Amino acid sequence: MSDTIFTRIIKREIPADIVYENENVLAFKDINPKAPVHILVIPKKEIPRVTDLNPAADAALLAELFSAVNVIAEKAGIKQDGFRVVINCGKNAGQEVEHLHLHLLGGKPLGWSPA
Ligand code: AMP
Repeated sequence: MSDTIFTRIIKREIPADIVYENENVLAFKDINPKAPVHILVIPKKEIPRVTDLNPAADAALLAELFSAVNVIAEKAGIKQDGFRVVINCGKNAGQEVEHLHLHLLGGKPLGWSPA
């Protein structure tokens, strides 16, 4: 299978506005932001969907992803006022990129419209 756009960002084959990186996690600004702060937090490991996570094998990775969310939220200045973390899974959620990603959204009151 060919690489997703996010794997190509990890490999630095295409540019992205990277805001955080460690051995297992990468985060970059969403190209089409839905809020003043819209950052995508992804594992470097290729996991297509949340349903492909292995609870045992990926437990530490999940902790790292959420740890990164907190560090990035602090750096982006949205930790105090709050933010939202969204994971789309599959067709009905509108998942476009088949590489697990957490949307970190904030910077204004977000309202709530799940559908
Ligand atoms: P999802 O619909 O949950 O799969 O979200 C995919 C997200 O990736 C969308 O919000 C897109 O705007 C974003 N996106 C797609 N291509 C890029 C890119 N090259 N750099 C940054 N964000 C991207």
